Amino acid sequence: MLAGLRTPPGAADMVDRIWPLLEAMYPICRSITGNGVRRTFDLLQDVAPLQRHEVPTGTVAYDWEVPNEWNIRDAYVADQSGRRVIDFRAHSLHVVNYSTPVRTRLSLDALQPRLHSRPDQPDWIPYRTTYYKQDWGFCLRHRDRERLAPGTYEVVIDSELAPGHLTYAECVIQGRSDEQGIVYTHSCHPSLANDNLTGLAASALLAQALRAEKPRLTWRFVFGPGTIGSLVWLSRNEALLPRLRTGLVIGLLGDPGLLTYKRSRRGDTGTDRAAEHVLRAEAGARTEDFEPYGYDERQFCSPGFDLPVGRVTRSANGRYPEYHTSADDLSLIRRDRLADSLRALAELICVLDENRYVHNLSPKGEPRLGKRGLYGSVGGLTPGTFEQAALWVLSMSDGSHDLVEIAARSRIPWAAVLEAASRLEGTGLTRTIGLEEQRQRRGW
Ligand code: ZN
Repeated sequence: MLAGLRTPPGAADMVDRIWPLLEAMYPICRSITGNGVRRTFDLLQDVAPLQRHEVPTGTVAYDWEVPNEWNIRDAYVADQSGRRVIDFRAHSLHVVNYSTPVRTRLSLDALQPRLHSRPDQPDWIPYRTTYYKQDWGFCLRHRDRERLAPGTYEVVIDSELAPGHLTYAECVIQGRSDEQGIVYTHSCHPSLANDNLTGLAASALLAQALRAEKPRLTWRFVFGPGTIGSLVWLSRNEALLPRLRTGLVIGLLGDPGLLTYKRSRRGDTGTDRAAEHVLRAEAGARTEDFEPYGYDERQFCSPGFDLPVGRVTRSANGRYPEYHTSADDLSLIRRDRLADSLRALAELICVLDENRYVHNLSPKGEPRLGKRGLYGSVGGLTPGTFEQAALWVLSMSDGSHDLVEIAARSRIPWAAVLEAASRLEGTGLTRTIGLEEQRQRRGW
């Protein structure tokens, strides 16, 4: 499955092919609502078919509600000669995201409290937002701020903050079963490349590749704003959560940092085991424990849901200096790292898709494999590997070990364990345990 991405140079070729998409998405001023998000989905639609959802302002999602929709046409600060000294058209980070409309004239002293810059990084424009407090401001390079001469400035923010909608999109890939997998990526950042264009592009590519296959799980690739987007999705999809077998929050996939898996809150779910299994093969990859800080895994793993959802990123949460500044542009993205991330994610999704608990239906003594045509060489596997894998699967299929655990404990390659599990099931020696039954057995 996902062969196109897993086989070199598949992922690298794919990154080259989607680079124009990254370039097209980069200048758009996205936010948690508004037309920038819709324009972005128009572009992603060319990669994977998206179902759009428009959720009205005021819709309640647990302790939160969908805010007014924000749209912006123009914003600038101009000096007395009319020259724009800060210009939203030059960079979407120049305006504090969600700024209220403004049209005024201010002295430099009166303007200063509205300006945000980074003295420690004087050439970078910082990224600031004011989603839930009505406010306005501008962001600029500290070097440019220091050049502002005393005088009166024309200040214009041609924005609109009014009842409208929050837009999120979903690509649903119907699987052979009704059990679900979710991949969530945030879509709310304006002109920032690693955070969040790499997540958007990777999600769309993975969805495209998976559509060409026949996955076991029904997969949902969800593109929505951070926090409010995942809360809205959860509040509208509670009925399917009992069927949610696995999930990943992904993003920040192209920076030079190490590939990183963050465990779910429970820390011992099939998602966690599968991720550790796959990442073990990735040079320098690391795994870290859950903490209630980060991206949308905070919502999926909140105690009222406690879902088997982990997170895959490279450097997250400000662990790279360019984070949330204009220096997080396309030049920061290493194509080879983005390709590595894609390849690892494709591998992980394959393992997550096939991982399951099985039940040995002939547990008293070893069943006779030969009589069922299960002895002898199986194409592609070294002699004896298939038989060993079959014995391991039969031995551990008491409903308390999933296939990833069996592969880890037996040190037999995943492909052989999977082949053995499929063929044992084909002969009726084992059966797959559904999520509901598994939950009853394990008491969660
Ligand atoms: Zn961010």
